[in-house]
Amino acid sequence: MSDDIHVFIEHLRGEVAEITLISLAAARVIAEQTGGEVVGVLLGHDVQGLAAGLAADRILSIDDPAAGDYSPDLYIATLAGLIDSQTPRAVLFGDTSMGAEIAGCLSGRLGLPLVGRCHTVRAADDQIRVVSQICGGKIFVESALPESTVVVSMVPGGHRPDDGRSETAAPIETIPAPAFGEPRVALKRYVEPEIGEIDITKEDVLVAIGRGIQLEENVELAEELAQALGGALCASRPIIDQGWLPSSQMVGKSGKRVEPKVYLALGVSGAPEHVEGMASSATVIAVNTDPAAPIFDVAHYGTEADLLDLLPELIDKVKAAGAG
Ligand SMILES: Cc1cc2nc3c(=O)[nH]c(=O)nc-3n(C[C@H](O)[C@H](O)[C@H](O)COP(=O)(O)OP(=O)(O)OC[C@H]3O[C@@H](n4cnc5c(N)ncnc54)[C@H](O)[C@@H]3O)c2cc1C
Repeated sequence: MSDDIHVFIEHLRGEVAEITLISLAAARVIAEQTGGEVVGVLLGHDVQGLAAGLAADRILSIDDPAAGDYSPDLYIATLAGLIDSQTPRAVLFGDTSMGAEIAGCLSGRLGLPLVGRCHTVRAADDQIRVVSQICGGKIFVESALPESTVVVSMVPGGHRPDDGRSETAAPIETIPAPAFGEPRVALKRYVEPEIGEIDITKEDVLVAIGRGIQLEENVELAEELAQALGGALCASRPIIDQGWLPSSQMVGKSGKRVEPKVYLALGVSGAPEHVEGMASSATVIAVNTDPAAPIFDVAHYGTEADLLDLLPELIDKVKAAGAG
């Protein structure tokens, strides 16, 4: 087994996913312990420009029209071939729809251990320790990285995306696409997220509501606060599933990725699928009655107040400050 750490460079429509930067940062922690290199694996067509700025020691890349759109068969075959030939110490993916699909298939096909929902990697006493988030982010489980090639799927929150960036361009080695028959799954078309009246990705201030808002009539209160702050309302998935807000206002893995200056999370637990969409907000303020809610792990400020008590007071104070 080599000491190198492979990182799958996830990209969509010309943009590298932020979870890839987080994975590169985590890979560096492992590589410092093993003495190996961080190797980015970039698959696609005409995408080698995306490697600029990534904190890898080198990049292995397929540049082939067949890899132009995400193809699970091709991607899995390529990564399985690389694991066979290069036997990296670990292969890191984002715990995204794409990353989780590939990581799970590779683990099953090659019989490799899979560390899922990995939040943090750290070196301790000659060991590499991995901390995973389970039960919707409420429980952290720590273990030693198994002593074989390991597949790891990363969630955001533990490592900083900036640590996955670099000013120096890593050398790129182009590798051939593996031969295989007709792909069983092929991309037919992209479905653009519906554009609502409000584009929450462009707002500086977002008031996010979760299941803690409890009743549909309380949504109005949160809307009033958002307006008083000059921002917009967004929500976690249960609010969208109830039909209380349109899906264009959902934040997270299946919703939008937002980076406002202020993200005020009201009654949002902070499940990894939600955090994935808002972890890059400049300032996160959490209001949640449960002190163990994982939203407090990503919040800069927080209170265990009941949001229904807090909202009317906050609205009055913000309006008074605005009037003043
Ligand atoms: C494949 C997949 C994709 C997903 N994609 C997304 C996604 O894109 N976005 C997303 O948000 N979720 C997504 N989810 C769902 C996600 O796992 C969580 O279930 C969801 O984020 C939880 O929403 P919540 O925090 O509003 O609700 P809950 O987890 O129920 O949390 C409600 C919180 O409100 C607090 N609370 C209750 N009452 C009050 C009160 N009066 N005052 C203050 N706090 C209070 C509680 O303590 C609790 O922490 C996805 C799940 C899967 C499996």
